[in-house]
Amino acid sequence: KSKSVSKGTLTIFTEQMFEDLNRRKKIEQHLRDALENNELYLNFQPQYNIKENKVWGVESLVRWKNEELGSVSPAEFISIAEETQMIIPIGNFVLEESCKFIKALHEMGYNDLCISINISPAQLVQVDFVETVLRIIEKHQVSFHSIEFEITESIMLDSFDMVIEKLDILRERGIKIALDDFGTGYSSLTYLRLLPINTLKIDKSFINDINMNFNEESFLSAIIDMGKLIQIEIVAEGVELLEQYNFVSNNLCDRVQGYYYAKPMTGEDVIEFIKKSQRNI
Ligand code: C2E
Ligand code: MG
Ligand code: MG
Ligand code: MG
Repeated sequence: KSKSVSKGTLTIFTEQMFEDLNRRKKIEQHLRDALENNELYLNFQPQYNIKENKVWGVESLVRWKNEELGSVSPAEFISIAEETQMIIPIGNFVLEESCKFIKALHEMGYNDLCISINISPAQLVQVDFVETVLRIIEKHQVSFHSIEFEITESIMLDSFDMVIEKLDILRERGIKIALDDFGTGYSSLTYLRLLPINTLKIDKSFINDINMNFNEESFLSAIIDMGKLIQIEIVAEGVELLEQYNFVSNNLCDRVQGYYYAKPMTGEDVIEFIKKSQRNI
């Protein structure tokens, strides 16, 4: 163990900190070659349309399997990809693969299914972001109306106006914009007021409080009511239990996503899932 002292601040570097730093460096190194080595792929998690009583579509979620590191969660590697700008080629890969998958579903006859794609703030602030995404979607001949982009509240405030301009262009084309992880940021209401969005994804942390914390439950239903008033679609994320599903359904959420309905799965499994759910209706 070693210590370093600077201006009255004592920092003790522990084994744990060295290990963390090491892992971060390893992830960064291996991530550089991940695309080239075909180590990245997508899973898709079905979303259920409560009112229409059918599958809405899927959210695409990136996965990474590396020989040395094994499976690394996006919760761990996306932030590193963002800091190193590797999120740009990775984001393009995710968009390409998402377009291919939704195109395949449409060609199988599931024409009204949609796909939701996570977009990192680092992608949004690229000067050629709009141009790039429109080119990719057009190349795959996917209808803009079947695409939803998920953005988060971590969009930097100094690029706010520019981001809004870009989102407006995308929305004019028919792409839907969803605000992801709603409720986890610091200025949620401001973002909700200023951002041109179609959809609000309520974070799992709110869903966890259903049947557990009455105050938070009231807060959740107030958010849903507000969404109705400003005419945006509400998606409940991370719904795992029947009671949670009943709550969001009774409170008129539009869509639900979570283990209760379906886990993230491979494209093949999603196709099987969709076939079965169409049959059951
Ligand atoms: P997110 O966009 O909020 O995605 C939802 C996360 O919750 C996913 O984790 C999903 O597997 C998980 N989840 C869904 N339902 C349940 C549930 O009922 N219970 C629990 N406990 N978890 C549930 P995942 O796939 O590990 O992704 C984590 C985060 O990484 C995502 O959160 C998103 O912020 C980021 N991410 C994933 N794929 C991409 C991508 O392609 N691009 C970008 N920029 N970020 C991505
Ligand atoms: Mg998301
Ligand atoms: Mg989320
Ligand atoms: Mg997220």
